[in-house]
Amino acid sequence: MKVHAVLDEIRERPGTGEVIPVIDPATEEQLTEVKDCGPEAVDDAVARAKASFESGVWRDLPGSERAKVLWRVGELIDQHAAELAELESLNAGMTPLQAQGTVAVGAEFFRYYAGWCTKIEGIAADVHTGGLTGIDVRQHVYTLKEPYGVVGLIFPWNGPIFNFCCKVAPSLAAGCSSVVKPAEETPLTAVILERILAEAGVPDGVANVLIGYGHTAGAAITAHPDVEKVAFTGSTEVGREIVHAAGASNLKKVTLELGGKSPVLIFDDANLEAAIPMAAFGTFIHSGQACVCGSRIFAQRGVYQQVVEGIAKIADTLQLGGPKDEGAMIGPLISQKQLTRVMGYLDQGKSDGVEVVTGGHRLDRKGYFVRPTVLTNVATTSRLFQEEIFGPVVAILPFDDEDEAVALANDSTYGLAATAWTRDLGRAHRLAKRLQAGTVGLNCQMQFDHSMPFGGYKQSGWGYESGRAGLETYLQTKIVWAQL
Ligand code: NAD
Repeated sequence: MKVHAVLDEIRERPGTGEVIPVIDPATEEQLTEVKDCGPEAVDDAVARAKASFESGVWRDLPGSERAKVLWRVGELIDQHAAELAELESLNAGMTPLQAQGTVAVGAEFFRYYAGWCTKIEGIAADVHTGGLTGIDVRQHVYTLKEPYGVVGLIFPWNGPIFNFCCKVAPSLAAGCSSVVKPAEETPLTAVILERILAEAGVPDGVANVLIGYGHTAGAAITAHPDVEKVAFTGSTEVGREIVHAAGASNLKKVTLELGGKSPVLIFDDANLEAAIPMAAFGTFIHSGQACVCGSRIFAQRGVYQQVVEGIAKIADTLQLGGPKDEGAMIGPLISQKQLTRVMGYLDQGKSDGVEVVTGGHRLDRKGYFVRPTVLTNVATTSRLFQEEIFGPVVAILPFDDEDEAVALANDSTYGLAATAWTRDLGRAHRLAKRLQAGTVGLNCQMQFDHSMPFGGYKQSGWGYESGRAGLETYLQTKIVWAQL
């Protein structure tokens, strides 16, 4: 499907009327617009999903048949890789290379979860419960792993294809039906993916894409009594609202992948040739709009100056630009709102006396571009240090020893990811245990694979996605007792 056809089609999609502009963040121009799907559209979509679930048209298919459909989705994503990547770049501000990478990962999610469709199984045991009652009772017990039913899948703009695939693939493998809500800023690729699901053989009504605002469509999904579970990726603030909505409605189950303020620890003995470029990459990629970006770097005194200078030097070489600007290595922020937010943190920091080693300003051109920014002299009590900025901004602080480094790293309400660079093996593994984060990288950063679980400690999340854990997110366990 050609890009201009998607832009036209999305304009024609039904909705309740309020029009959401879809903006190219590299030019600030409007690409197209889409009508918001409010509570009525959500009711309809949930009803379709519920009917499909109850009919068994998908959940009761043999696992081997579901697997074939999921595999086909992966193949079709590969076939449509060029237009998916083009739209992802255009709408989410990714570089073409990054967008191509995200499409490939998306296809792999479907192939990976195709394999799990035939491996959904429980446990069985013969139990002798005579001890408690004094009566000699022997029973056969087994567990069934069953799909939740209708699930709501809600995700942000920073990785539209990635988030679509990492949620839709396992929910389909588990046999769930779903209502899928991409971010209002980046709805374009979801339209192609929706079409691909149908072409691959996902029955009508099983996966329903709804485009709309969070406070309308998103809130209606989380409050809906027929939605049994919500899997959400986004900010910690909205995660909290979702928990409240789940509690106030049907106590639906909730999985949350939330914000981060991930620390990177660089010790005196680290391989700086690897650590400095990786720490810079892990901070500035996608203009800092990845949840696991290492936005707080702690360098031991002996290498502190070298780390600050090395990262600042790399920051200065990074060329910013949109998908059509040749040589661009980093794209724009997603929106005016995000630009205002990031500049607000920088302005506050400057008035608080932080030292701007490099960057700290937006580009003098159209598009929401902010120069990669390195800050020092940042107070650990400041908002800059404590809050998620979600922009190309890093604070670098010195430390003296391991205990101080761990204390600084763990001084956060977030716990998404952490990285440690050291050649001391014992220290590396000690740090893996001491760092309060769902993912720890030892001499590597920004690692992810669809076969491994991913989730946040502290206020970075509830539950896990990806890997086997990502499948189990969509399954509940029934325990069956049979008298022998
Ligand atoms: P956001 O929380 O504002 O929005 C995320 C999604 O939730 C959007 O689809 C939005 O429309 C919807 N939403 C907003 N209000 C809602 C409500 N009241 N009820 C239901 N849905 C609602 O987040 P954002 O600004 O779009 O994305 C950035 C955030 O996402 C950052 O905090 C980032 O760390 C986080 N993130 C986390 C992960 C992870 O895996 N932990 C991955 C990517 C992004």
